[in-house]
Amino acid sequence: MTSSTDKAGSPGPAVPASIVGLSFAELTLSLETAGLDAKTARMRARQLWNWIYVHGQRDFAAMTNLAKEFRARIAEQMTLARPDVVTEQISEDGTRKWLLRTAPGIEFETVFIPEEDRGTLCVSSQVGCTLNCRFCHTGTQKLVRNLTPYEIAGQVMVARDALSDWPSTAENRRITNVVMMGMGEPLYNFDNVKAALAIVADGDGLALSKRRITLSTAGVVPMIERAGAEIGSSLAISLHAARDEVRDVLVPLNKKYPIAELMAACRTYPGVSNARRITFEYVMLKGLNDSPADARALVKLVAGIPAKINLIPFNPWPGAPYECSSWSTIEKFAEVVNRAGYASPVRTPRGRDIMAACGQLKSASVKERASERMAALRSAELARMPH
Ligand code: SAH
Repeated sequence: MTSSTDKAGSPGPAVPASIVGLSFAELTLSLETAGLDAKTARMRARQLWNWIYVHGQRDFAAMTNLAKEFRARIAEQMTLARPDVVTEQISEDGTRKWLLRTAPGIEFETVFIPEEDRGTLCVSSQVGCTLNCRFCHTGTQKLVRNLTPYEIAGQVMVARDALSDWPSTAENRRITNVVMMGMGEPLYNFDNVKAALAIVADGDGLALSKRRITLSTAGVVPMIERAGAEIGSSLAISLHAARDEVRDVLVPLNKKYPIAELMAACRTYPGVSNARRITFEYVMLKGLNDSPADARALVKLVAGIPAKINLIPFNPWPGAPYECSSWSTIEKFAEVVNRAGYASPVRTPRGRDIMAACGQLKSASVKERASERMAALRSAELARMPH
């Protein structure tokens, strides 16, 4: 499969594109286009899928159950490329952060958080963000663009490569959970996130069941129901305040979709039950949302929703306008929530020393002005014209 548009969506010379990010149906179809009959294409696609997503194989030549001739032909048409790793940082607590790049100026971060009983990969959905939450570092970076299915599923591939975590079906695999809690708002990139998560959740591939995938949203209400119906992952809501006056300031999106509407969407989220609770994330900000009265308002708000409340100590970043609540304040808050019958784990900050903790992610990518983009396009076009 060759195209004159690469996965980053920018025009360039015709280059073979990576298979990573294609759905099974797309892969099958591209094999048919390359000349295989439908039945053979399906069989080959199944074999390739297994090599790529179960074994992490990066070399067609090593796929020994495929005819040599087929391996050679496919290598001319497709690649097994992943996003490039620009940097890898390892925290003193074992958290790892990768800065990835797929095109000039398209950089995004992925974080692996190892714990006793699980390993969670925190995946980005956009370069930058449009939401401007006041306490979030990513929010200070303008949206550059949505990530493609290749770039989203590619984050899992890169992390598995770096951790030598193949085959994906191993009993003691290191990545056991995926959270869409990196840079960006996943529900503003619905189609690509949906396509990528279908690959991540595929039982014959990366095999992270939908229960082990959590999509976190700042509250894009009209998309929440669709997310439940079409993606079917667990849901987390970045709530952070129980009153609109406070939430309007912290999460400006609240002005568009206020708390009452958000809660209504949570109450009807498909598949919610006591066994499958919604996680409410609540960042602890000194003097702003951390009083016992705030805690009482919070439990009143979520009453009747099968919920977990995840208290997140605020993670500082250069120039942040807030401070983290004191430990004793957080404990008192947690106690109120607990007494009301909700689990209220306090999220241990991980990877703060490498700026990998919640809300600390940011890449140097900047949004080009439209005029700059046009100029770049024009000069690329000129360069391709016959002289
Ligand atoms: N846009 C989505 C996905 C990002 S998830 C969402 O808002 O849910 C990242 C989580 O970290 C969100 O709950 C976010 O509110 C939280 N967060 C952002 N900045 C933070 C900070 N400085 N300290 C602690 N948590 C933060």
